[in-house]
Amino acid sequence: GWQLAHRMGRLGTESAFEVLARAQALAEQGRTIVNLGIGQPDFETPGHIVEAAVKALRDGHHGYTPANGLPALREAVAEDLYRRHDARVDPAQVVVVPGGKPTMFFAAMMFGQSGAEILYPNPGFPIYESVIRFSGATPVPIALREETGFAFDAEAVLARITARTRLLILNSPANPTGGVVPKAELDRLVAGLADHPHVVVLSDEIYSRMLYDGAHVSLLRYPELADRVILLDGWSKTYAMTGWRLGYGVWPRALAEHATRLCINTHSCVNAAAQYAGLAALTGPQDAVSEMMAQFTRRRSAIVAGLNALPGVHCTTPGGAFYAFPNIAGTGLESRAAQDLFLEKAGVATVAGTSFGAFGEGYLRFSYANSLEAIEEALSRIRAVL
Ligand code: PLP
Repeated sequence: GWQLAHRMGRLGTESAFEVLARAQALAEQGRTIVNLGIGQPDFETPGHIVEAAVKALRDGHHGYTPANGLPALREAVAEDLYRRHDARVDPAQVVVVPGGKPTMFFAAMMFGQSGAEILYPNPGFPIYESVIRFSGATPVPIALREETGFAFDAEAVLARITARTRLLILNSPANPTGGVVPKAELDRLVAGLADHPHVVVLSDEIYSRMLYDGAHVSLLRYPELADRVILLDGWSKTYAMTGWRLGYGVWPRALAEHATRLCINTHSCVNAAAQYAGLAALTGPQDAVSEMMAQFTRRRSAIVAGLNALPGVHCTTPGGAFYAFPNIAGTGLESRAAQDLFLEKAGVATVAGTSFGAFGEGYLRFSYANSLEAIEEALSRIRAVL
């Protein structure tokens, strides 16, 4: 029989998809499941964006595009970054990929290998640790704590850098905690990185438009890091486009070429119609984004208040994204046990904090990308089980 390469044993997964499958199986047995598990907006993609894709198909855009994306789309991304972050980016630095994840994978492939160390947030998006291990590098967790609003402490991050560190992964606003790193902390980190010119930073800013107070501070705002910051962003969350598979990386000039070569070796290019949709999203009206945020704001208040009213549960108010990450230690339940209990007994899908790393023990992730009614229903079902 065949023999699988060793590297496959090092590839992890994203448990939110597993929970989704279990919730769907229960729903098929006739249970009504409230899904606060999966991290995707419950809205449909705004109509004008859908129309742009339909038009592109009707207009005959059926072929390959340049591997790094349509020039018009890369220009629109650069303009959007200038508007939002006051950052001057050359469209040649933009590499359009199918979603947020490929930029992560590419960065790990470029800098990870046996003997290298890669720093990543824990609890954090589970794919970070997975791709680090897959690359052969050693994952070095940066512990994020409730007391500091799940933001990192710059000194603690800098203290973990060694001569072997190749890449530092940051994520703000964050999954699964909703934590936002304050500008002062970023300033301190960037200042400290001057002493470590060998460290490249991957800044995952996929939730950059999903902030409840204040303005997002992009790592693109720091010119001193311009030759070693990789920005990850995309359309999935902002424009409710998770199924379209569209995202981008902004790479230092010398790395964009390597990223493009990885595109050519994997998917060739993103499907053309999705790219035209992405162009319409960036250049068209933004009211749908504001409307979604208005809804998320109401939902955030409802879920945080509701969670804090549960016995043994304490939830800090998340500053961004659409996740609440309550501390459930007071219930006496471990994360995984609580996830399973709430799914099986209450019919509420959530994700165990440990799915995001060992430092997530004692927590549970609730995605509040669901209606207010669904959120209230989930809370009352959980209260009954507790
Ligand atoms: N980065 C973070 C922090 C995420 O939470 C997600 C999706 O959940 C992604 C990246 C990946 O997004 P995409 O679905 O566009 O690949």
